[in-house]
Amino acid sequence: MISIKYLHIGIDDTDSPDGMCTTYLASQIINKFKENGIDLVEYPRLIRLNPFARHKTRGNGGVALKILNDDNASLAKSIVLDEVEKLSMFDCDNTNPGVIFYDGEITPEMEKYAFRAIYEFITIDEAEKFGKSVDCEIHKFKKGRGIIGSIASISLPLSDYTYELLAYRAPENFGTPRRIDYESVYEMDRQTFPDTFENIDYSENYIAIEPKTPCPVLYGIRSNNVESLKIAQDIVTASEPIDDWCIFKTNQHTDMHIQEASRISDMKQFGCYCVEGEVKNKPTIIDGGHMFFYIQDGSGEIECGAYEPTKNFRKTVSHLLPGDVIKVYGGIGEQNTFNIEKFQVIRLTDVEYRNPVCECGKRMTSAGKNKGFKCKKCGRKIDSDEKVPIKIKRNLKNAQFYETPVSARRHLSKPICRMFKS
Ligand code: ATP
Repeated sequence: MISIKYLHIGIDDTDSPDGMCTTYLASQIINKFKENGIDLVEYPRLIRLNPFARHKTRGNGGVALKILNDDNASLAKSIVLDEVEKLSMFDCDNTNPGVIFYDGEITPEMEKYAFRAIYEFITIDEAEKFGKSVDCEIHKFKKGRGIIGSIASISLPLSDYTYELLAYRAPENFGTPRRIDYESVYEMDRQTFPDTFENIDYSENYIAIEPKTPCPVLYGIRSNNVESLKIAQDIVTASEPIDDWCIFKTNQHTDMHIQEASRISDMKQFGCYCVEGEVKNKPTIIDGGHMFFYIQDGSGEIECGAYEPTKNFRKTVSHLLPGDVIKVYGGIGEQNTFNIEKFQVIRLTDVEYRNPVCECGKRMTSAGKNKGFKCKKCGRKIDSDEKVPIKIKRNLKNAQFYETPVSARRHLSKPICRMFKS
């Protein structure tokens, strides 16, 4: 039996905040491959890695391509290296491209490395050592930091995945305002949601398919399947030319970054988790519009934050009460605060403890610590400090998920519309 051999190609860290996008570079490479009779054997992959990686430009994404390892392999390699040389934003200090070629099966240890690149921080040296140990051909440009993501991008198993169709602008329009017909985006969303998702943030009237950076992307449409992307693409119009487009298979919106933590104390800074806990205090808003509260379990407590950019989500969070049990999904950032991406209500408390009501009908006030209550109207006093339970109506529902709006969503965050997909 003849076994088919493949060449895996990983590319990362080619862009800068001033321009370019590694997916655009990949699509240019794919075009050159086609001109030379080289076909991909799978959709190109766009792999999002650790959201807390320090040197990311935006979404910490690497790209992987897979072709047959045949007579064309050396031509393919030189096309890749030439395009990386030609299109990378070398002037930016933070742009340090890395390219990986690997011929063979992806091994369990490579898969393990890929998950580490999502959950932890990896140094360039570690990546290089690992790459060499599995016989990757490594190409570093400048510091070559991109090899960290390149190895992960070819190695990550995709048990869950989505697709993104990226439409690219003509080079003469790079950096100018995009001319997408917004009405056509609303129509596309009406016709293709929930197969496509993250198109529009209705609460903010925000067109999420349109990047806000000077990169070559005109729009990106995200979806569970390729068929609906083709339908969506036919509906969205723009009054500027679309130079090229490409569909990527991706781990975006799969929650692949989230690790299940059984206790609050098991979580570490710069990790992303889901964890269950009891709400300790009523969420409060601080200067700058950020909202904070604590959750606790037997092992400890952690401050949770719903930040200003999450807009209306803060209103939802404000309905939480001490005693509620929730499962939060998100990551622990710079300030050691758990940045909530979404939460599920496990158990709502339906009682609130209030001061007792006096015989005269007026609610009593505290008479001081350990001094019971007093009535300001009739002067009556009681010695007990015990508040009384009152049944309350809640604005949240048991078992329900609540999420941040599309405009504040992380690339890896699984939206609720995908939560119950088989
Ligand atoms: P874009 O999304 O626009 O393509 P980006 O946000 O992906 O840009 P990059 O330019 O790719 O940013 O830079 C991210 C850098 O972080 C890359 O060099 C990548 O190799 C590296 N990196 C990825 N994962 C990790 C990790 N777990 N630990 C350390 N570095 C990482």
